[in-house]
Amino acid sequence: MNRAEIWARVRQHRGPWDMIVVGGGATGVGVAIDAASRGYDVLLLEQSDFGKGTSSRSTKLAHGGVRYLNQGDIGLVMEALKERGLLLQNAPHLVHDLAFVVPNYEWWEAPFYGMGLKLYQLLAGKYGFGKSRLLSREETLEQLPTIKTEGLRGGAVYYDGQFDDSRLLIHMVLTAFEQGAALVNYVEVTSVTKDAQGFVDGVMARDVESGEAFRATAKVVINATGAFTDRLRRTADPSATLMISPSQGIHLVFKADFLPGKSAIMVPHTSDGRVLFAIPWHRHILVGTTDTPIATATLEPVAMESEIEFILSTAGQYLAKTPTRDDVLSVFAGIRPLVRAEGVASTAALSRDHVIHIDPSGLMTICGGKWTTYRHMAEHCVDQAATLGQLGEKSCVTRDLRIHGYYVSPQELGTLAVYGTDAAEIRKLIEAHHELGGTLHPELPYMKAEVVWAVRHEMARTVEDVLARRTRALFLNARAAIEMAPTVADLMMPELGWGPATKEKQLSHFREIAANFLLH
Ligand SMILES: Cc1cc2nc3c(=O)[nH]c(=O)nc-3n(C[C@H](O)[C@H](O)[C@H](O)COP(=O)(O)OP(=O)(O)OC[C@H]3O[C@@H](n4cnc5c(N)ncnc54)[C@H](O)[C@@H]3O)c2cc1C
Repeated sequence: MNRAEIWARVRQHRGPWDMIVVGGGATGVGVAIDAASRGYDVLLLEQSDFGKGTSSRSTKLAHGGVRYLNQGDIGLVMEALKERGLLLQNAPHLVHDLAFVVPNYEWWEAPFYGMGLKLYQLLAGKYGFGKSRLLSREETLEQLPTIKTEGLRGGAVYYDGQFDDSRLLIHMVLTAFEQGAALVNYVEVTSVTKDAQGFVDGVMARDVESGEAFRATAKVVINATGAFTDRLRRTADPSATLMISPSQGIHLVFKADFLPGKSAIMVPHTSDGRVLFAIPWHRHILVGTTDTPIATATLEPVAMESEIEFILSTAGQYLAKTPTRDDVLSVFAGIRPLVRAEGVASTAALSRDHVIHIDPSGLMTICGGKWTTYRHMAEHCVDQAATLGQLGEKSCVTRDLRIHGYYVSPQELGTLAVYGTDAAEIRKLIEAHHELGGTLHPELPYMKAEVVWAVRHEMARTVEDVLARRTRALFLNARAAIEMAPTVADLMMPELGWGPATKEKQLSHFREIAANFLLH
């Protein structure tokens, strides 16, 4: 997947594409996979890197959403549970099941959560993961050895899916590419264009790397820009009513010893009514999240002090060792592209279901939903796009479409597990160049070969692409990522033909972004 080659293909394309998808997050890339695998001619443009938006900043759960049961959204939960099962089936190298323990400190919690979790398990039907059950006090302590013991009565265990969000996204980009889609990162869509009747017929875009502007036409333009949805809609119609109510959520990352063992903790009801997760992830612990309404979306959201304090103090109530600011290895924020609803008081209460909307100009928008349901959202969207663009009906084939790198026993691949079948290719690279087998930092498992691989085969263009989304260094340990950056830049220099000035610019840009992941 070479950017220059794909770019040349885009420039030489004759006539309109069947679909242009704007936005390279889970939603847009899901649409590109669906459309290309049905045989439609698709172009996807991403203004930054694939997954730069919310899709690299989630809680990393492939889940039905236990908390939506409480909101009575059974249909949404059942759909998401089915998609969770399909994700595990089609991407076993990137998704796995995980036990979640709900500790009980009140007498009523065991029967209450026990029943709810049983229902959650039953709703999954044939797509079920492990069986939920109640735990005695001793069993709870066995699963969560560091949990606060005072007042602990017992617990309940249930199973959900966990994944590496941006790694899955990169493998989805590769899948879409293999199915025939053209996908390019660092191309910003600046506006939509219209035909003589005022109907959307394409986009104006700008190659962020060269600054060059260009126009591409399409039978349907699909807006999959997440939290930026309304910005693009308003280039078609400046008076368009807003659809998105953005809400920020943050996570803090700690060393694994804050939660040893293999189970995650789910706190269904924190002091302010939110759900809190503490999850083992890539040999670290991820704790989150918050739900804070914000006025406008940015590509680089920053955690607020109040959010950090809330997570630190709440996590302290459930972990024997109370975490402090000094224990935080990384903090990251993401923005939920929630769909507005009249009369709903808080963003936490807004539905997580997706919406497909067609503006009078013919611009199609897909927004809301969850990472877990991207495939279902894409199927729904492409069905409607085919009708809108009079493209001729073609059936969806993604239910059984394997994601690039498909590998059933990734644990055999050691630290390269997330690459699936590509792990063998990375090993070959190391055999040919032994120095690439060295690690980039003593505190993280990433090897130099992964940097070269990311540039050559995964369209990584910047130091940040490598440290934030091809590897997850920045999300796991921001200080280590900053220390790794010069070596990463040295490895990228010959691959991308950078001179010393470009290298320096890359490093200072990375340091600026990484500062938002550090707690000062
Ligand atoms: C804190 C948090 C935790 C979450 N946890 C989970 C979870 O555990 N499980 C789950 O299933 N879901 C979870 N979600 C929800 C999930 O992450 C989102 O629903 C999903 O990632 C949204 O994907 P998207 O593609 O719509 O948006 P994004 O990932 O934001 O993608 C939109 C893309 O559009 C690009 N773009 C914008 N404007 C333009 C333009 N003009 N030209 C070109 N490109 C443009 C942006 O750069 C961006 O990359 C979570 C969300 C948050 C915020």
